[in-house]
Amino acid sequence: MDVDSQAEASVLSFDVGGTQLRGALIDEAGRILEQMSVPTPRSSPEDLAQALTGVGDALVATESGRVSRPRAACVAMAGTVDRASGRVRSWPTTGFTDFDVTSALARRLDLPVSLVNDVNAAALGESEVSQCGELAALFLGTGVGTGFVSGGHLLEGERGMGGEGGHLPFRPGVRCPAGCDGCLEAYLGGDALERRSEAAGGPADVPEILKAWRAGQQPATAIMEEALEALEALVSITVNLLDPQRIVLGGGLGMRCPEMLARARQTVLELPLGNGRRDLPVEAARLGDEAGLIGAGRLARELLGG
Ligand SMILES: [Zn+2]
Repeated sequence: MDVDSQAEASVLSFDVGGTQLRGALIDEAGRILEQMSVPTPRSSPEDLAQALTGVGDALVATESGRVSRPRAACVAMAGTVDRASGRVRSWPTTGFTDFDVTSALARRLDLPVSLVNDVNAAALGESEVSQCGELAALFLGTGVGTGFVSGGHLLEGERGMGGEGGHLPFRPGVRCPAGCDGCLEAYLGGDALERRSEAAGGPADVPEILKAWRAGQQPATAIMEEALEALEALVSITVNLLDPQRIVLGGGLGMRCPEMLARARQTVLELPLGNGRRDLPVEAARLGDEAGLIGAGRLARELLGG
C-alpha cells in the first residue's frame, strides 16, 4: 500500500456481529488500512464496551507514523439502535436492552463516536464501493436485513431503525423469530427455511434444503417456491417505494443461491409499473464481511463534516 498517499483524517469503524467484533482503521478515501477481530463478548454490555476500547487501542497503535491519529469512530451494531443518543435499545444476540455502547470508547480514545444499525451500515458500504447514491441492499442470511441509501445518505428514520424490510407483512400463517405473523423473513430467512423444512420432515440446514429443492424433492420445493415469492414481493416493494438506481443482493443465503439473484432480476423485468426500470441492475453484493466496516467508516467521516 502506498502509505505516502494516505490522507490525514483516518477514522475507526467497528462491526459488532453475533460471534465476531471487527474493527478497522480507515483512511479518508474510505479504504481499510488495518483491521482486526476478536470474539464478541456476550457476558455484559460493560464487557462489550471494554472489548471495543481494546480493539480501538490496538488499531490506533498500528497506525504509528502512517496516518494521523483517528479523529472519529462509528460502531455498527446488530439490533435496535438509537442513533441520536448512541444507546442500543435491544441486542438480540444477548437479550441485553437499553445500554450505552459509545461513551466508553469516546472517553478512552477522546474522539466523537456514533452508532448505526449493522445492516444499514452494510448497505452504506455497498453504496460506497459501487459509488451509487440510490441503492437498495437486500441481505438474505439467517434473517432478512435491508438497508436503503437515497441521495447518498441512509434512510434511517427518526431513531436509526428505518429500512427494516424483512418484517414487512407478506403472508399470515407463519411466525418469524421476532414474533410477527407472516412477514417476509418468516418465509425468506435462512432460519425460517430450516424451521419450516424440519417441521415438514425435510432437511434442517440450508445447503441440504437447496440440494433437495434442486433435485425436485418435497417439502423443499414448496418451501423454496414460497421463499422466492417472498423475494419477489420484497423486490417489488423496494422498486416501487424507492426507485433505486441499483439493487444489491447479499447475505449468506443470497450469495449461495444464484436462483435468488435470477428471480430478483426477473421480478424487475416483470413489474407492472417497472416499465421504465427494465435496465435496473440487480447485482450480487461486493463487500461481504467488510461492508459494515466500510459503511461505519463513512459515518465516522461524516462526524468530521466529510
Ligand atoms: Zn418478522
